[in-house]
This record gives sequence, structure tokens and C-alpha cells, in this order.
Amino acid sequence: MPPPAAPRQLPRPDFSDVPEARRRNMAAVRGRDTKPEMAVRQMLHAMGYRFRLQRQDLPGRPDIVLPGRHAVVDVRGCFFHRCPNPGCKNSVLPKTRADWWAAKLARNVERDLANQAALESAGWRVFVVWECQVRSDRGALAQKLADFLGPPGIARRESEP
Ligand SMILES: [Zn+2]
Repeated sequence: MPPPAAPRQLPRPDFSDVPEARRRNMAAVRGRDTKPEMAVRQMLHAMGYRFRLQRQDLPGRPDIVLPGRHAVVDVRGCFFHRCPNPGCKNSVLPKTRADWWAAKLARNVERDLANQAALESAGWRVFVVWECQVRSDRGALAQKLADFLGPPGIARRESEP
């Protein structure tokens, strides 16, 4: 009896699926201290808010935490986290191996939703900033953040360790 055929390994998609310009964006949004996240931190700081970074003890290790306001600001890359904004060019799936990408990114979205639900059930308020909001209209984003967080300079203890 012949040995069973080895399962055929599907080639693993790589970033050659993704056009060069978008790949640069994706590389920028993959790690910590990414550009959009830095931009949001700088924006919040300039507005007078003080915050903590990446609380390891919170679900999903959120980027920006304002403990005194029970608030979390989560900066999400549009491609990897499937930005819902209509017209967001960075959230378009690659044409190549679209199914693989769809499945992979769906897991990211699931994880984001689970983390957000866990944060909220622990009493945190979560504000999601999409990368494209940072790139397009910072004035509008600043206003939304201020509406969500409340006036700066009240919850002083945020600046303490
Ligand atoms: Zn977007």
C-alpha cells in the first residue's frame, strides 16, 4: 500500500500581494510606536491630555490609556484591522489571494472586538482612531477626541506614575 500523499502545502501569501505604497503603510502600522499612533499621542499631548502607554495588564495592551477618565484610545491601522470607513483606500483587500487575507484579517477584527468588549466590561470607555482619520482631518479628529475625553486638565492624577 503506498504511503499517503503528503498534504500539499499551499504557498503562504506574502506582502508581494500588496501594492508597494500600501506595503509601506502596512509596515508602518504593524508594530508599536507607529506613525499614526505617535501622531495621536502628540495631538493629545498638545491638547493638554496626559496618558499612559500600553498598559500590559489591560486586554489587548491598548496604546493610550487615560486612567483618570477611564478611557482608552486605540489607534488601529486600516489594513490590518479592516477600517469600516467608506472610501478608505487602505482597507481594500489585496486582489491576490483575497480569501487568505480575508480570513487572516477577520481574525484581527474578532480579536479587536473581543478586547474592546473586555475593556468595556471592566469599566473602560474605548475610543477607536483609524489611521485614515489621522491622515485626513486632524481637526475633526481632535474635536471627536475632546468630546469623548472631556476637557483636559481636570483629571490631574493621570500624569503621575
Ligand atoms: Zn481607514
